[in-house]
Amino acid sequence: MKLKHWLAGLMAATFVGAAALPGTAQASPEAPKIGFSIDDLRLERWARDRDYFVAAAQALGATVNVQSADANEQRQISQIENLISRGMDVIVIVPFNSKVLGNTIAEAKRAGIKVVSYDRLILNADVDAYISFDNERVGAMQAKGVVAQVPKGNYYLLGGSPTDNNAKLLRDGQMSVLQPLVDKGDIKVVGSQWVKEWSPTEALSIVENALTANGNKIDAIVASNDATAGGAIQALAAQGLAGKVAVSGQDADLAAVQRVVAGTQTLTVYKPLKLIASEAAKMAVQLAKNEKPNFTTQLDNGTKKVDSLLLDPTPITKENVKLLIDDQFFTEAQIYKK
Ligand code: BGC
Repeated sequence: MKLKHWLAGLMAATFVGAAALPGTAQASPEAPKIGFSIDDLRLERWARDRDYFVAAAQALGATVNVQSADANEQRQISQIENLISRGMDVIVIVPFNSKVLGNTIAEAKRAGIKVVSYDRLILNADVDAYISFDNERVGAMQAKGVVAQVPKGNYYLLGGSPTDNNAKLLRDGQMSVLQPLVDKGDIKVVGSQWVKEWSPTEALSIVENALTANGNKIDAIVASNDATAGGAIQALAAQGLAGKVAVSGQDADLAAVQRVVAGTQTLTVYKPLKLIASEAAKMAVQLAKNEKPNFTTQLDNGTKKVDSLLLDPTPITKENVKLLIDDQFFTEAQIYKK
């Protein structure tokens, strides 16, 4: 505490208008320094988030330092610590593990750095803001899309990564649609499993085992994203069942959109990444300048009610796939492999 006061006094007396002390964030910088710590840039979706985010932040006069933890908890902590020591004004984080960043974020806050939780809510930590799509709505859309194709039958629930808070929100949204149908006796949930690190190969082997255990009598798979849907559909294809079993997803990954067009995946959920990335960049710059960003709600992360901006997702089936072309997310040639 004492050191902090001394530093604050020193800043006021000597450094007004000058560059910040090394490792200390400035009060309201004209050219904010943003750190972007991403769980895993090897996945299609996050590489797009990065590109849009960097472009939007640069257009607002900020510089961005991007780090990928490659799905490694310890590496992400070290990378965030490194961003703190390099004197970022704001650190934007896509957490690999939602539950382990409390101490690291406390360190950032002590250095006067603002912290934004991106797409996935960081739990039990003093984050300044959260931006995402409404994940419960995404989950409800996934279940609704699958129920529209298979109103009655045996369902398998393929959840997301157990370390990702979104996986739980998605499941809550899915069950808001499925539970009444289970209670009515229309739907039977024959099994469910969380997929470690959202891994397609893990999803593949989980669904292989589920098919064996149920004598191939599975009518629908509520998969929580496109990567895991891809693994599930590979397992279905090996049994000649691709296209016969309803499967959901999300992200509008190119391969998934192609599967939707081909009829092997029932739906995906489109989350305009340019929108979340540019809103996040705006939010980060506003926080750096001590301005108040736009929020739509507050979400409890166990430590506080976090100011949050939740954006709208859109379900995509064969019928409205054109929307992705209109939104310039993909070209027609990409989707139809022309
Ligand atoms: C995101 C999904 C993504 C998944 C795996 C989730 O937190 O919301 O869009 O597919 O992580 O990366």
